[in-house]
Amino acid sequence: MTTSLIVQKFGGSSLKNPERIAAVADRIARTARSGPLVIVVSAMGDSTDHLIELARQLSQRPDRREIDMLLSTGEQVSASLLAMALHERGFPAISLAGWQAGIRTDSRFSVARIREVNAERIQHELAGGRIVIVPGFQGIGSETGWDEVTTLGRGGSDATAVALAAGLGRVRCEIFSDVDGIYTADPRVVPDARKLDDITYEEMLELAQYGAQVMMPRAVELAQIWSVPLEVRSSYSTETGTRIGGNMEDVSRVAGIAHQAAVAKVTFVALVDRPGIAQTIFAALTIRQVHADLIVQNIGHQGRTDLSFTVPESDMEAASEAADEVRENVDAQSVTVKGGLAKVSVVGAGLSSSLEYASIMVGTLGELGINIDMISTSGIRITCVIDGDRVHEAVRALHRAFRLGGEDSWSATA
Ligand code: ASP
Ligand code: MG
Repeated sequence: MTTSLIVQKFGGSSLKNPERIAAVADRIARTARSGPLVIVVSAMGDSTDHLIELARQLSQRPDRREIDMLLSTGEQVSASLLAMALHERGFPAISLAGWQAGIRTDSRFSVARIREVNAERIQHELAGGRIVIVPGFQGIGSETGWDEVTTLGRGGSDATAVALAAGLGRVRCEIFSDVDGIYTADPRVVPDARKLDDITYEEMLELAQYGAQVMMPRAVELAQIWSVPLEVRSSYSTETGTRIGGNMEDVSRVAGIAHQAAVAKVTFVALVDRPGIAQTIFAALTIRQVHADLIVQNIGHQGRTDLSFTVPESDMEAASEAADEVRENVDAQSVTVKGGLAKVSVVGAGLSSSLEYASIMVGTLGELGINIDMISTSGIRITCVIDGDRVHEAVRALHRAFRLGGEDSWSATA
C-alpha cells in the first residue's frame, strides 16, 4: 500500500551512537517501502552541548554568528551518517544542509525563526524516489544582505519538522524520541502515569511550556498555526504514540500534571508604582536573554508596589545582574532572588469550564502542608510555585487527586 508523504523527526537520543543510527535506519527502511519520507534529525546525543563546551574553552563570549556556524554542524553529522546507513541497506537517500533544503529564517543567530520553506529541492529529490534527510535546528537568513547560517534555539529540530510538514502540504509529522507519547505526568515521578491517545495543541503547548520536555513549545505553536497533524512516538517500538491536534471544545478534562524544577523567583520590593517601571525591568532582562515567566504585581500601597517573576535557576546570575542595573532607576527598596523552587501545573481543556479544579489543586497542596509561593493561571492551566524539594510529592498527590491514573479520569461538573 502506498501512503502519502510523512515527515518524521528523530531526536538526539535516538541517534546517539552508530548502533542507534542503524536502528533508526532499519525503522525508516521499513516505512519507506510504503511511501515517500522526509526525515529531520537532531544532533547525536549530547553533541550540541559538547560543541557549546568547546566554544567556551576558547572564548568567554563567543560570537553568535560563529556559534551558529558551529552548532549547525551537529545536525549535519547525523544527517549524513543516516544517509550512509540507508545506502548500506539499499535505499536511495540524500542528506541536505538546511540551506539546501530551502529553510529560510530571519537573521537572529541562535534564536532564528523560520520564515518560509522553499521545498523545490526536496520535491525534486522525492520525485527521484529518494528519502530526503534534513538536519533540524538550522536554516539560512539573509536579512543582512548576505546568506548566513542560523539556528533555531534549543530543541529547534522539532520546529524544522513542523515547518517542513507545513511547507510540503500540511502532511503528517511524527516526532520520534525515547518516550512513547505524552503522559498524564512524568512516568519517572508517577509510576501509574497514563499515556494519552490524544491531546489538543493548546494543552500540549501548556504542558511543553511548563515542564514536559517532549517537544519544543514553539514547534507546537507552529503546528497549531499551520494545522499540522502531529504524533509523538517512540523510536523503539511500532506502537502508536499520542496524537496532537483536535478541538478544544470537545474536551472537558484534566490532561496532565507538568512540573519544572530549578526555578528561581525574583522580587522587587516596594518599587515606585508608575508607568514605565515594569518596562525598564523587562528591557534589562530581555537584553540578557533572560526569560521571565509568571509575572505578578501586587496591589500598590502609597505609591509603591511589589513585582515578582520567575526565571530558570540557570539564569539567576543574569537576572541579578539586570536587577542591580535597574534597581536605582525603579527606586526599589530591595531585590530578592531566591532559588530552589519548582513549578507544578495542572493542564486541561476542562479547566476553563469549572472553578473546582483550582480548589482541588490548592486544597491538595494545603493538605500536604506545602506552601504556595505564587499562583498563576491561564484559561487551561493552573500553576503553583512551591519548594523544589517537595515537587515530586506534589505531582504524585495531584495526579491522584485528579484521578489521572485510573480508567475514568476526573471531570468536573460545570
Ligand atoms: N541539537 C539541538 C539541541 O540539542 C537541536 C535539537 O536537538 O532539536 O538543542
Ligand atoms: Mg538535542
